[in-house]
Amino acid sequence: MPKTIFEHSSEGRRGVRLPTREIDTPLQDLIPAQYHRKHPARLPEVSEMDVMRHYIKLSHCNYFIEKGMYPLGSCTMKYNPKIHETLVHNSCFANLHPYQPESTLQGALELLYELQEDLAEISGMAKVSLQPAAGAQGEFTGIKIISAYHKAKGNLHKTKVIIPDSAHGTNPATCKLVGYDVVELKSNSAGRCDIARLRDLVDENTAGFMLTNPNTLGLFETQIEEIAEIMHSVDALLYLDGANLNALLGIVQPGKIGFDIMHFNLHKTFSTPHGGGGPGAGPVGVVEKLVPYLPVPIISKEQDNYLLDYAHEATSIGKVHTFYGNFAVLVRAYIYIKMLGAEGLRRISENAIINANYLKTLLRNTYHIQHQEYCMHEFVADGSKQKKEHGVNTMDIAKRLLDKGFHAPTVYFPLIIPEAMMIEPTETENLESLNAFAQAMKEIAQEAKENPELLHEAPLSTPVRRVDDARAVKELDPIFKIK
Ligand SMILES: *Cc1c(COP(=O)(O)O)cnc(C)c1O
Repeated sequence: MPKTIFEHSSEGRRGVRLPTREIDTPLQDLIPAQYHRKHPARLPEVSEMDVMRHYIKLSHCNYFIEKGMYPLGSCTMKYNPKIHETLVHNSCFANLHPYQPESTLQGALELLYELQEDLAEISGMAKVSLQPAAGAQGEFTGIKIISAYHKAKGNLHKTKVIIPDSAHGTNPATCKLVGYDVVELKSNSAGRCDIARLRDLVDENTAGFMLTNPNTLGLFETQIEEIAEIMHSVDALLYLDGANLNALLGIVQPGKIGFDIMHFNLHKTFSTPHGGGGPGAGPVGVVEKLVPYLPVPIISKEQDNYLLDYAHEATSIGKVHTFYGNFAVLVRAYIYIKMLGAEGLRRISENAIINANYLKTLLRNTYHIQHQEYCMHEFVADGSKQKKEHGVNTMDIAKRLLDKGFHAPTVYFPLIIPEAMMIEPTETENLESLNAFAQAMKEIAQEAKENPELLHEAPLSTPVRRVDDARAVKELDPIFKIK
């Protein structure tokens, strides 16, 4: 491990020296005596160079997309154009205050309005709210809207939401939080919604169905129209978990094929550096009949004037975030969409799909892949063969990838594939990096055969070796002790 900044400290060393001579009154004379320190602050005494080297060194201990491929399935860890950062930080956006009068915020409101409209166009939904701060909060907002819809219609007997067994954990968590019972739908052998089972589960008490498409196996759910019909026959709503929208841009408009409501993960599909808990934005789009329940305010345009619109406040679920949502993430998504345009967005999804299929083909003779058909923007391979033949599991493989300079894929998810490795290369990786990743995966399979012990020990080259995950969460101190 690199030293802490305190361990670099040397008495009297300074990065900046304040021009003391030019100050007439010494600072301590200006501050009442009772506030003076009795002892100097325990701050590290370091030079500017010490600080630079320290933080550069720390950054090298981390892993990030600028360092190498980050094929974390479902998370869409694509390259984030640096122009976003320049515009977010340097433009007048950074100096706006949310309490300014609307008339002085017209540029910001225009941007939000345009983003709202662009997302509606991309998704085929009638209206979008930009407020939710993450995918999970978008889900919460969406299920609250479903609940408000049923309440308004007097559908008080509707108590359950159906969710496939391949779903992300946030889906059932969200439904519980809103007060619904969760009913699990087992996937069929093709890795998709089992329509016959779905028909059995649906009844008058069904409030909605939450579906991810493409699903977490990277497979497109082809029977959406039929599923929508089943749901609508009992006045239940069809919710799309839009985390995998990176596969659909310019190809499928969810609002046009039967989905009633969806969330976007702007930080995934529309590019904001994310991970480690944020920042994000999870706008929600709805069909016409759900517009009255969207959070307030939405951004409206009247003639040439943009405004915060509270018109539907009486029916709205309320506010889910302060002010405008996570504004800087919204600015990045806006820039991204405007830079790419309709054609560019479609190219993103096409290339994301091509890259995933290329990589899947390279790996299919080395690792077991349950669903061999063409995938969308990601696929699930697994370590079941390596486990059975050499006693090496997916965690060992994932840890060894770190030694080879790659971030690991999403592992042990979805839960329905034992030893799962969910691989999403994204459109921003080129042929050479896809080949290098496949090469590393093949080398690891070879090592599993010849030297399984090595894989149990991996990673060997990272600043922190394999930790006890549960202990690492509960007892931070023993690992990151600051002297
Ligand atoms: C990432 C993800 C979520 C949750 O989104 P956050 O923005 O992380 O809150 C939900 N569902 C799926 C399928 C995801 O990949």
